[in-house]
Amino acid sequence: MKIEQASCLAQGGWFQSATGESHAIISPKTRHIIGRVPMLTAEEIRATISHSQRAFQKWRHSTPQFRAEILTKLGAYLIEHCDRLAAIISLEQGKPHREAVGEVHYSADYLQCYAEEALRITRDSIQDPNPSKQLTVTRRPLGVVVAITPWNFPLAMLTRKMAAALAAGCTFIAKPAPETPLSALALGEACCAVGVPIDVVQIVTGDAEILGKEFMKSKTVRGVSFTGSTEVGKLLIKQSSDTVKKLTLELGGNAPCIICQDADIEKAVQGVILGKFRNAGQVCIAINRLLIHENIAQRFTEKLISEISKLTLYEREDAAYDIGPLINQAAVEKIVRLTSDAKQKGASLCYGPLPSLNPQSTLVKPCVLSDISPSMAIWHEEVFGPIVSIATFSNIDEAITLANNTDYGLAAYVYSSDLKTGHNIALELDFGMVGVNDTAISNARAPFGGIKQSGFGREGGAYGIAEYLELQYQSSIS
Ligand code: ADP
Repeated sequence: MKIEQASCLAQGGWFQSATGESHAIISPKTRHIIGRVPMLTAEEIRATISHSQRAFQKWRHSTPQFRAEILTKLGAYLIEHCDRLAAIISLEQGKPHREAVGEVHYSADYLQCYAEEALRITRDSIQDPNPSKQLTVTRRPLGVVVAITPWNFPLAMLTRKMAAALAAGCTFIAKPAPETPLSALALGEACCAVGVPIDVVQIVTGDAEILGKEFMKSKTVRGVSFTGSTEVGKLLIKQSSDTVKKLTLELGGNAPCIICQDADIEKAVQGVILGKFRNAGQVCIAINRLLIHENIAQRFTEKLISEISKLTLYEREDAAYDIGPLINQAAVEKIVRLTSDAKQKGASLCYGPLPSLNPQSTLVKPCVLSDISPSMAIWHEEVFGPIVSIATFSNIDEAITLANNTDYGLAAYVYSSDLKTGHNIALELDFGMVGVNDTAISNARAPFGGIKQSGFGREGGAYGIAEYLELQYQSSIS
């Protein structure tokens, strides 16, 4: 598959920077250049924001029915063009085609969900003791909003922000990750094809720092929804203070998965395989620390290793695989650093080679480390790769303390055959999302998001649209 693209979607249509500068996209699978995108200048971004503001004056007054119709059409378009979109995602990001197909469907789910939510934006009426007073609360669109998205789910992360923003009546500018802008621009094509009005959606490419600064200092941009690292999230908090923007931040994770003594080992192993190896572990809700009751640890680990040994690795473009190459060499370097630090500090290698650098490839073979502890960097940092890190515990209180021993608070998991035990443990875990006997927790209608240094705000369902609405309270006397 060859993709060429030298325009982004801005200022009324397909747009190229006046400087002619572009950025090459390299597939982690083929390691070839598969496309180019323009590098917009600060001035071009300021003009893009003005276009969005003008489009907002009209879009904010569109009927919810019209917005719902557009979102429904967009969802149908994605499903109709699923195979092509999945091919783009897989080529520029590295995930298996079948996972990319899942991502397209997941994105379409958000569009359907927000087509429905657009119709549910309500106005409240509050009773006052004085009968001549009327108190009403109106939900209004925030205005121009910006999405800054990561490379691991290049279509879904963008679509879920865009769907909620458009449903609310906001206009939308997206800045996709430099590694994976082609999936984002394919969504831009979809917007043009189904008749999203001009400049309601713009998708821009360029230097993250330059673009980020322009967005953050603009008084016109009223909200920023960011998914990415905690480090950049903290920078955006600082940069947003001058213009007091509404932020939605979905930052890093460090998910623990507690396997209780009474867990169904077969099911838990399957859950861990899914929750660890999807997208080669490059998922913010991926299991980062596996905490297993000491009495079942050996049996569980043996079964897990036997299942891991069945996973296939990427070899060539025309063959199916379970684990693809990582996004870039920096990702491999981080994994090499974390695993060698763990090994040095006493972790045992139970399966696979210890990851090492290979200038020819970013493929990392699965590896299982046991005896990990809070003294190791791997305990505290997001691994983002196919590495299983195991620690054991002797009682539930200890497991909960270990699980909560992190600055992050995005997702956590617990496996127990007793659902009540599972729920009770979940309530003690300081995380925004908890899977009980379930590691497939992402759902377009549920509130996705974290606490602590994993960010704030939620995406999905009615919770997500609230991020793009502001309240106006009116008190009137008749
Ligand atoms: P990762 O390390 O996984 O790539 P990042 O947080 O660096 O995570 O990237 C997530 C998104 O944030 C990407 O779109 C990236 O281009 C963008 N980004 C990175 N640095 C900045 C910045 N200084 N300002 C705004 N956006 C940024």
